[in-house]
Amino acid sequence: MSFDVNALLRDNIRSLVPYSSARDEFKGEARIFLDANENSLGSPLTKWYNRYPDPLQWKVKQALSQIKGIPPEHIFLGNGSDECIDILFRAFCNPGKDNVIINPPTYGMYEVSAHINDIEVRRAVLLDDFQLDLVHLENLVDENTKIIWICSPNNPTANSMNREDVEIVLNNFSGIVVVDEAYINFSRHKSFIQELKDYPNLIVLQTMSKAWGLAGLRLGMAFASAPIIDVYNKVKPPYNISQATQELTLQALGEVEQVNDMIRILVSQREQLVKDLTRLPLVLKIYHSDANFLLVKVADAKAVYEYLLDDGIVVRDRSKVELCEGCLRITVGTEQENKDLIAVLKRFLS
Ligand SMILES: *Cc1c(COP(=O)(O)O)cnc(C)c1O
Repeated sequence: MSFDVNALLRDNIRSLVPYSSARDEFKGEARIFLDANENSLGSPLTKWYNRYPDPLQWKVKQALSQIKGIPPEHIFLGNGSDECIDILFRAFCNPGKDNVIINPPTYGMYEVSAHINDIEVRRAVLLDDFQLDLVHLENLVDENTKIIWICSPNNPTANSMNREDVEIVLNNFSGIVVVDEAYINFSRHKSFIQELKDYPNLIVLQTMSKAWGLAGLRLGMAFASAPIIDVYNKVKPPYNISQATQELTLQALGEVEQVNDMIRILVSQREQLVKDLTRLPLVLKIYHSDANFLLVKVADAKAVYEYLLDDGIVVRDRSKVELCEGCLRITVGTEQENKDLIAVLKRFLS
């Protein structure tokens, strides 16, 4: 199957002359920097942030490259995954003409970002076992379909998509296939990141927001073939990742062991939570989870949600979402938080 990024691009992006910043035009060392209209005196902060940051975040990418085994040229960094998602719509999808396919129930940002960009969203609802409906998916594809969004492990259903199914999509669709792996670190399944060399149309999304514990920093990652990374860099705002985020991310990337410990604890807490929830009469079903949350079917989702809230515990009510009737989405907390949750649930209707 042939894949040509240029053919997929919007005309205005193909012909776009990207912004050239001071940091693009001069990259070397100098004695005096008078090229970027920064404040030469400094800033009110003890740690000076008066200089513009590296537009392409090479130090962060080099550190990530070591951890992920992916060359820096195949990495794009966004202001959260949300920016990695939005840029794809802006670069590849013609408003009012093109369409994308999502597999609901899934992460809400694909659809919101599509609507912001006036792009049609086609829905291949997951099968009852929360796996991809390949027949429906194939029927939805037409010559204006630019992107297929696959979330694995999926939010809010918590399961991973069958690898063979994702491979079938990758092998048979000539547009872009995004595999969002925000929760991959909590899963036993292999990432698709090592498949990049076989699939020029694949984009793998990951994030610092979940396993790495840095949701407040806003750093999302896209791993893809060099031509797709080039598109990202052409369309992104010049300084999309702040100096503070770059420095703190670099620092965090030096603590892989600590993060692996947290992942181990969260996964074991997840299994403990499954055991404890299973014993509660109000719990009808707990879906298998490859993530740091559980999708739990209860007798009366709204009532349980309100009951927990009255006790200061907030979970996500997903009972109005297709295939998630009666379900709450519960993030795995600390050991104590999980105990509190179970204690409150035990008191429900008793
Ligand atoms: C939480 C989440 C993200 C992370 O988004 P950020 O903007 O990086 O915080 C991405 N995808 C899915 C499916 C998520 O649930």
